[in-house]
Amino acid sequence: MARHVLVTGGAGYIGAHACKVLARAGYVPVTYDNLITGWRDAVKFGPFEQGELADRARLDAVFARWQPVAVMHFAALSQVGEAMAEPGRYWRHNVLSSLTLIEAAVAAGCLDFVFSSTCATYGDHDGVLLDENTPQAPLNAYGASKLAIENMLRDFGAAHGLRSVIFRYFNVAGADPDAEVGEFHRPETHLVPLLLEAIDGRRGALTVFGSDYPTRDGTCIRDYVHVMDLAEAHVLGLAWLEAGKGSRVFCLGTGTGFSVNEVIEAARGVTNRAVPVTQGPRRQGDAVALVSGSARAVAELGWRPTRSTMPEMIADAWRWMQNGHYSQ
Ligand code: UDP
Repeated sequence: MARHVLVTGGAGYIGAHACKVLARAGYVPVTYDNLITGWRDAVKFGPFEQGELADRARLDAVFARWQPVAVMHFAALSQVGEAMAEPGRYWRHNVLSSLTLIEAAVAAGCLDFVFSSTCATYGDHDGVLLDENTPQAPLNAYGASKLAIENMLRDFGAAHGLRSVIFRYFNVAGADPDAEVGEFHRPETHLVPLLLEAIDGRRGALTVFGSDYPTRDGTCIRDYVHVMDLAEAHVLGLAWLEAGKGSRVFCLGTGTGFSVNEVIEAARGVTNRAVPVTQGPRRQGDAVALVSGSARAVAELGWRPTRSTMPEMIADAWRWMQNGHYSQ
C-alpha cells in the first residue's frame, strides 16, 4: 500500500526538496499548493493538487482521495520585510489557513503532523546559542504567526490527539545537488540567491542590510542549513511520529553562524567572481544573530547534516542557478 504524505507548499523551495527525499524514502508526496509563490514545475515526485489552504471543502476532498498517513505543512508567507509592512496578511494567511488545515487533518483522522516553524519565533537573544527551551519572543508578524501555529498544534494535541513534530529552521540555503529542484522566488528576497544572481549579472548589486550591528563585522549573523539536510530531517521526523514517539520540537541549525559579509566572501570564493555589493540601512524586523544548537535533533532523531558547509551550499545553489530553472 502506498503511503501518501500530504505536503502543503510542495511546489515551494523547501517543500519540493522534501518531496524528493520523501519519494526516495518510499513515500508518495502529494503536493497541495496554490501556486501563488510555488512552481508547477517543482512538483516532480508525486501527484499535484492545486488548492487554497483556506478552502476546507477542497482539503476534505484531498484527504478523502489520498488518505495520507501524515501532513507536512510548509505552505506559508515567509518574508520578514513583507511581514513588517503587511502583518494582516501573515496572520490571515499563515494562522487562519493553518487552522483550517489542522481541523481538516483531525476530521480526516490524519493525526501525524510535521510543521515548518522558524528561528524567527525567538527574537533577539544577544548572541546566545538558541535551543528548544529558549524563550520565544518574535520581532515580526512572520515569527509571531509561526509561534501561534506552534501553540495551535499543542492545543489540538491535547484535545484531539494530534501528534506534531515542530521543526524550528534556521536559515536555509543550497539546492538539490542534481539540480532537479532548487530555490526560486519571485520576488527574491533571500541572501544567497540574491547574491548569486548579482554575481551572475542577473540583477544589480546586493544591498547589505545594516553594517552597524554589534557583531564581529557589523553585519547580521545567521546559521545556514543545506536544504537537503533539512529535508532529510523531515523524513526522520515523520519516522519519529510513525514510531509513536509523540509530539516534539526540534531546532535545525548547525551551531555555526555566518555574518552577511562572510556569506559574500564565501560566494566570491566558490564562484571566483567579483561580487557587486552596496551598503544599505538595517532591515526592520531583523534579529542581530540567530544561531542554534541541534543537539536534540542529532541525539533523538539521528539527524546528520552532511552538506551544510557554506561552500557546499553556495556551490549547489550556483549549480542550480546555472543548470536548472522553472518556467515562469
Ligand atoms: N540580507 C541582506 N541583503 C539582502 C537580503 C538579506 O543583507 O538583500 C541579510 C538579512 O538582513 C539577514 C540575512 O541577510 O541578516 C539573511 O536574510 P534572508 O532574508 O536571506 O533570511 P532571514 O534571516 O530573513 O530568514
